[in-house]
Order: sequence, then C-alpha cells, then structure tokens
Amino acid sequence: MNINEILTHLGENRDHYYNAVAPPVIQSSNFVFPTVESMRNALENELYEHIYTRGNNPTVDILRKKLAALENAEDALVTGSGAAAVAAAVITNVKSGDHVLCVENPYSWTYKLFAVILKNFGVETEFIDGKEINNISGRIRQNTVMLYLESPNSITYELQDLKACAELAKKNGIITIIDNSHASPIFQKPIDSGIDIVVHSATKYINGHSDVVAGVICANSGMINKIFNATFMTLGTIISPHDAALIIRGLRTLELRVKRSDESARKIAEYLYRHPKVEKMLFPLHPSFPQYELASRQMTGCGGLITIKLNVDSKSKVIQFANTLTRFMIAVSWGGYESLILPSIVFHDIPGKQDSSIHWSWVRLYVGIEDPEYLWEDLKNALDAISD
Ligand SMILES: *Cc1c(COP(=O)(O)O)cnc(C)c1O
Repeated sequence: MNINEILTHLGENRDHYYNAVAPPVIQSSNFVFPTVESMRNALENELYEHIYTRGNNPTVDILRKKLAALENAEDALVTGSGAAAVAAAVITNVKSGDHVLCVENPYSWTYKLFAVILKNFGVETEFIDGKEINNISGRIRQNTVMLYLESPNSITYELQDLKACAELAKKNGIITIIDNSHASPIFQKPIDSGIDIVVHSATKYINGHSDVVAGVICANSGMINKIFNATFMTLGTIISPHDAALIIRGLRTLELRVKRSDESARKIAEYLYRHPKVEKMLFPLHPSFPQYELASRQMTGCGGLITIKLNVDSKSKVIQFANTLTRFMIAVSWGGYESLILPSIVFHDIPGKQDSSIHWSWVRLYVGIEDPEYLWEDLKNALDAISD
C-alpha cells in the first residue's frame, strides 16, 4: 500500500467520529452491547471487536492497521514497550525442551529474556554470529524451533542476510523473528523477505518524539491470533488509548523523520570517518562498513545511528568529549527528534557491577532531525578539544 495512504488515511473512518481530522482518544476500558446475542458474537472475535481495552480499543485499532500495513503484514499488535513485544512474540512460540538460535549481542533485555528467563523454563538459547548463513545452518538441531534476528544488530550493527535466513528456517520448520527497530519499516520490510514475525520498539522511530514507550508485533493473522490468545491477553502489557493517539500523530511524519536522520547521518558518518580523533566509525551504509554490500542490498536507508571508537589513551578523554557536547545530549534511547550520545563508558567502573563488554572508548551517536551542519559543529568542537 502507498505510504501516504497508510500514514494519512488507513484505518481512519472519520465519519464514525464527527468527521474529526484527528482520531479521538477512546478512553474507555469497556464497551456495551445492545443485546446478549451481539455480545456473544463479539466474544468470538475478541482480537477485532471492541469489548475490553486489554484486548482491543478503537484508537489502538487505527494504529494496528497502520503498523501492519507499514510492514506489509496482515495484522499487528501494539504493546506497552518494545521489550514486551519481543517477550510476547518469543514466549508464544517456545516451550520447555526447545532450542533457540539468537544472534549474538542482541538488545540487552532480549538477551536477558533468552539467557536468564527462558533458561529457567527449560528453553535453551545459543547465541551465534549471524553474519554468515553457514554459521547459522550448522547450529540447527532437531529441537531448534526459532531463529531470532536483529539486523542491524545493536551498537556494532552486524547484519544477517534476511532472505537466506528465511529460506533456511522454512526448510527446517523454524519460526523467524526479527527486531526491525534499527532500520524502521521505511528502510527494511523483512516480511517481504520471508521473515515470519517483525517486532519493533515503537519508542524509537515509530513514535519518534521521545514521549511514549511502546512496542509492535507484526505477522500474519494466524500468528497474531496465536500471540493474542497465548501471551498478549495474559501478560496484559497493552498501550493506553492516549499513547496510541500520540503514536498515530508521530506516524504522520515517520517517513520525513527517518529520511532526514538517514541523510544527515550519512554526512556526519563521512565527517567522523575523516576526523583524526576517530579511530573507527561504524555506519552500515558507509563504504568502509564490513557488510556494506549486504546493507546496501537489503536496506534502502538505515537511519541515524552511528558508532565510533575514539582515538584516545584514557577514559578521562572520553568523558571530556561527551561532557563537551551541548547539542548531542547524553541519554539512552534514540529514534526521537533530538540527537543523543551514549558513551560505553557510562557502563564501566560502576561499583559492584561488571563492566560492559564494549570497550570504554566506543561511543554511540544518534543523529536526530536537526540540521546536520549544526550537529557537526558540536561534534567537531568536542573532537578537536580532545587533547593529545
Ligand atoms: C529500545 C530497544 C528495544 C526495547 O524497546 P523498549 O520500547 O525500550 O521496551 C528493543 N530492541 C531494540 C533494538 C531497541 O533499541
């Protein structure tokens, strides 16, 4: 479906609500029925009817339709966080005794789900380097039921060949899930490559204004029904109608925002690559990136995330660099309008905690929708200020 149709019109039956341009927030926990028979009918189809807001809600419904269409999926569910979307999609499809293959270094709470929580329930997860398809195929066992992907991966942006992964999984009767938060549905549509389930942290690009935490699960109707009845209704991690309305508003500019971040990040990546205080620069669509060829083939853009390794000999210089920046703010998360920096060093030297596995000289940048030259001024200033 045309992207403009999805973002501006799809799901919006304006004649149902006084022809208001903006959809109303239907802030109601439950919905009434004129007769016993009509309620009985509705209960047969709880995923689509409006009965109780833990299941479905008219404002959330509009959002579901748009998100499904954005991923070329039949249906979608919206959750109270990206972590909840990952958990619901995964837990629905595994049971005790199963084996899961997951790319190494996934998003931190995804790692915890597999490595700690599911392990306690008898599900074994093997974390694998997903860059080579042979590496994945060699690890498939008789009880392997799931291949969990993140492409590009968190922080260091390793990619998996989605078509090859989907083909391999289909041949072996394995379910594929991808966390597509990084590329956004604008730049990568995994379902078109044969992936079964797409999850997102909608907190990032999809909402895009750093004022809502939410998640998305996209899949075919059968799978969405399965997730709805297995975990979605029992975990109850839903989004409020008010937050759904905010995300619908965020979606109006999704394409504009991610394309702007992407274009700016390409410029800034090149500037960083050439700066003497930058030892390494990782951006999937820069020719220096190890998997540049696959990235260019598989994604039409990749958004605003860039990771750099500073050319410094002490931790204090990293701290000085981060503290000198004023336009890039120090914070977790990304995908909003505002540019951010997350230095690995914040996860080092914390009393009683193990240091991050990522060396302290690495820094992740998120390029927001500000003018790239305005942002580069800030970065250049902070890089130039690092003493030799
Ligand atoms: C942020 C993030 C998540 C978790 O999403 P929340 O909305 O914070 O729960 C999952 N995957 C990736 C890649 C993320 O960046």
